[in-house]
Amino acid sequence: MRMPAVFIGHGNPMYAIEENDFAREWQALGRRLPRPEAILCVSAHWERDDTAVTAMPRPRTIHDFYGFPQPLFDVRYPAPGAPALAARIQVLLPEAVADQDWGLDHGTWAPLRHVFPAADIPLAQLSLNRALSPAAHLALAQRLTPLREEGVLIVGSGNVVHNLRRAKWGSDNAAYDWAVECDRVMADKLAANDTAALVDYPALHPQAMLAVPTPEHYLPLLYVQGVRHADDKIGFFNDQMDMGSMSMRSFVLN
Ligand code: ZN
Repeated sequence: MRMPAVFIGHGNPMYAIEENDFAREWQALGRRLPRPEAILCVSAHWERDDTAVTAMPRPRTIHDFYGFPQPLFDVRYPAPGAPALAARIQVLLPEAVADQDWGLDHGTWAPLRHVFPAADIPLAQLSLNRALSPAAHLALAQRLTPLREEGVLIVGSGNVVHNLRRAKWGSDNAAYDWAVECDRVMADKLAANDTAALVDYPALHPQAMLAVPTPEHYLPLLYVQGVRHADDKIGFFNDQMDMGSMSMRSFVLN
């Protein structure tokens, strides 16, 4: 049996503790996924200058943001670590170093505390290596494909369109035209399984660099696309814009 693979648009950290439509979709996702043996999450919020995998038995919950209400800082996601998965990943990716310092950042725990609220599935994170090109991220991800046959749920957590500087925090949160258009063309390329177009994302739209001004929220998508099989079906959810400049678009490959 092959595990699905999931891309989650995580958006505003507050959604970790809010009961909104996005959170309800994350909860519904958890109810329809088969129970994984372990989870590997590639979060937008763990960039390094190398490839690393968390290998500690008890990862801490990292509150990697500022200026949010205390209840968000009080959240703990006490999922066990996944040292055995980390060792397996070092076989598939010999360049990956075993990390004992990081833990779970909010790109991982904000959605996963809705998807898997029991926090009882072993969980590791893989870093985003800043030294790699998009094509190299994809190639690295492709080497993780066997994990899907080994009961591992691969999760990419970012946002396909994410421009924090343009984000609207007030009640007027109408989406920018460029954000809507870029989200739509990315969805079309995902639906068409057009990997080459997704790797060369700056060429997707004349204003792609407004939609993806920095790569870290987009790149987790390539990790999910990288473990895609030709016969996988793609199912979108949370395909809405938020805060004007973010797409919450998420998908399951199954
Ligand atoms: Zn984020």
